[in-house]
Amino acid sequence: MQSQAKYPQPLSLEFFPPRTEQGMEKLKTVIEGLGSIQPEYMSVTYGAGGTTQEKTMETVRYIQTQTDYQAAPHLTCIGATHESVSDLLEQYDQLGVKRIVALRGDLPSGMMDPGEFKYASDLVAFIREQKGDRFHIEVAAYPETHPQARNCEVGIKWFKHKIDQGADSAITQYFYNFDSYRYFIDNCEKHGIDLPIVPGIMPITNYENLIRFSQGCGAEVPRWLKCRLESFEDDKESLLAFGRDVVMELSQTLLDAGAPGLHFYSMNSIEPTLEIAQSLTFKS
Ligand code: FAD
Repeated sequence: MQSQAKYPQPLSLEFFPPRTEQGMEKLKTVIEGLGSIQPEYMSVTYGAGGTTQEKTMETVRYIQTQTDYQAAPHLTCIGATHESVSDLLEQYDQLGVKRIVALRGDLPSGMMDPGEFKYASDLVAFIREQKGDRFHIEVAAYPETHPQARNCEVGIKWFKHKIDQGADSAITQYFYNFDSYRYFIDNCEKHGIDLPIVPGIMPITNYENLIRFSQGCGAEVPRWLKCRLESFEDDKESLLAFGRDVVMELSQTLLDAGAPGLHFYSMNSIEPTLEIAQSLTFKS
């Protein structure tokens, strides 16, 4: 039996594949602990260029066959071949997976060969060609613009191209500026893009990690937020409480503004996501 999403604006969860047995045991507890929010699906990240790919399959297999939840594997195409992707799609199909998060990924440093796919749009087209409508295809969206896009209009152009290849919905990079999402949705509408674009929500639990990670992926941590977080120094409890309030407010604002759901970057932890999710009220 697959679970039904609990809310009219469904919640979904993202996990990274644990590298160790202990990590996997912890993830099983996290999956159980977050079950109360009845996620529409649980996605599992995939290391572009080869890292952790087996672990993604293991984690997807566990969710899909040992729990009541639907797994949604991420699949990055940079460095991949048509054959390797075809093989993975077949394995996911056999497991009964219904949703794929299709991404380009970034070539790991030192790896020169981009393989047989250049962009996520190539992967989306390939999945449709190979598997028809077998999978619901999610793609990535960037309200603050992908760091490699020359400007936001170019970013929207290629986002639309990716959708035209057959994507069904999108999950955004995380952001802390509500206006960036609102502007992005308006701009998408102007370009005739009308598929669900679900905000990615990143709970705040660690200042240094957040800054480092945000620099890497091009997400902006606004100056006011950075200043407040920095001021907590070693006071972890106050940082967590403040971070929780900020992300709760953002999440509620997004739902009130009509976001079609929320996708939580859980970082394989129960509490931050659970506290935020339980605080939300939904449009009926
Ligand atoms: P694309 O959509 O291909 O876009 C990449 C860049 O190329 C953009 O700047 C775009 O404007 C440009 N572009 C696109 N098409 C063209 C074209 N035809 N011609 C010229 N330019 C073009 N990374 C991982 O390694 N593993 C994961 O599991 C993972 N999960 C993610 C989940 C989400 C929800 C998000 C938002 C990101 C995730 N990432 C993951 C990160 C992602 O792989 C990177 O952001 C990567 O740099 C871009 O991937 P994409 O699928 O958005 O690429």
